[in-house]
Amino acid sequence: MLKSVWQDFLTIVKEEAGSRVVETWLKAVVLKEWDQHHNVIYVEAPNVFVKDWIESKYTDLFKVHLSRLLNTVDPKIIFLGPAQVTTPALQQAGQQQAATPAVAEKTAAQKTKHAVMVGGVQQLGRLNPSYTFETFVVGPNNSLAYAAAQAVAEQLGTQYNPLFIYGGSGLGKTHLLHAIGNSLQKKNPQAFVLYQTTDRFVNEFIAAIRFNKVHVFQEKYRKLDLLLIDDIQFISNKEQTQEAFFHIFNALHDAHKQIVFTSDLFPRHINGLEERLRSRLEWGLVADIHKPPLETKIAILKKKAATHHEQLSDEIAEYVATQVVSNIRELEGSLVRILAFASLTKQPLSIALVKKVLQSSLQQKKEQPIDFGKITQHVCRHYSYKLTDLRTHNKSKELSLVRQVAMYLMKKMTDKSLREIGSYLGRKDHSTVLYAYDKVNKQIETDKQFKALIHQLENEILN
Ligand code: ADP
Ligand code: MG
Repeated sequence: MLKSVWQDFLTIVKEEAGSRVVETWLKAVVLKEWDQHHNVIYVEAPNVFVKDWIESKYTDLFKVHLSRLLNTVDPKIIFLGPAQVTTPALQQAGQQQAATPAVAEKTAAQKTKHAVMVGGVQQLGRLNPSYTFETFVVGPNNSLAYAAAQAVAEQLGTQYNPLFIYGGSGLGKTHLLHAIGNSLQKKNPQAFVLYQTTDRFVNEFIAAIRFNKVHVFQEKYRKLDLLLIDDIQFISNKEQTQEAFFHIFNALHDAHKQIVFTSDLFPRHINGLEERLRSRLEWGLVADIHKPPLETKIAILKKKAATHHEQLSDEIAEYVATQVVSNIRELEGSLVRILAFASLTKQPLSIALVKKVLQSSLQQKKEQPIDFGKITQHVCRHYSYKLTDLRTHNKSKELSLVRQVAMYLMKKMTDKSLREIGSYLGRKDHSTVLYAYDKVNKQIETDKQFKALIHQLENEILN
């Protein structure tokens, strides 16, 4: 159970903080123990350096997401180094605490809360406190979205409702969404704000159906003053959820409650979206975010460095900004790597050091310029199918196999998430991808010919 919670957590962190954070800091970290009784989560780091770093930088992130995944409220997170053993101390502390009535009461209160709120609400806890308007660097690429977000936060539900922010990955959509929530929360702590990724919204809805709590679910959403929905494109092809969402949307909109969406696609380009919902999404203002120009990238780097209590010289900032091409998440990832490397090796920040760090990561990137299109193109060519065939729900034996091979290679040869792979092939559910990956893996082990074929495909894709 802890393992899967940890996997979910990593996926979320990847989404919100970038895959570099996961690669650099969380790869060797283990979710050690969840002491449910006392609401304490133990996280074990491979060394003290990593422990101190994640503790100082990511405690909030751990708190926010682990509490939700474990369905608890305000847990205590304890970070352990490799040599620290949790259990005896833990048990002792636990026994003492268990005796206090306050703890028992709190636990009971939590239980009731969860019984009422499907999936656990904690609406405010989900906002990432570091994603604010103040920490967002405005440039010509994002000024419209930024201004619209501010206007919405100033005057809820009246100006642009809904506000729909769209743009490529890693360009600041989620950041702006949280900024709206944070800004409102600051102005009006009573306001009822909910930030929800579309995935979680969908899961919550499914859980509500399963536990016969749809009315509670709808009730919860209808109470909101501000609903922030991230990555709405993932609602494509989920008819029932779309239906529920349509009603929630109407109820909130009629009551002049503000709704904000983000998406990597313009509403019209989201496949499998019901027409009436699509038109709702375009009702208010649709604002796009583009790739940042060099000056904006430099400004972002300097600002991010400052939050790590470091200063970047113009030379270094410009160098990094020109190396990382388009995505701010990657820009930030490079910066984190540079700072970590300097700190780990106790060297001052210099252009030579920066070059060294970036060279190795850029090298890796050059060696792996593989995208989904390239993979499916080769797989389809080999089996004489078209990409549109893979995207159908035709379950003929051969087509299923081809689809599974494509999924397997996409998983193996890119660092994209299961969900991205599934969604590229028109699948609703990422477990299909996982299933395909396992299945192909097993067949490779037992079937030499098949193994050779997969190798051949990999080689073709690489060359
Ligand atoms: P998206 O949701 O569009 O994929 P995010 O909002 O997650 O992108 O942004 C990725 C990272 O880049 C976040 O850490 C975010 O803080 C940062 N970022 C993006 N745009 C800006 C900006 N204009 N100013 C400061 N940081 C930014
Ligand atoms: Mg996002």
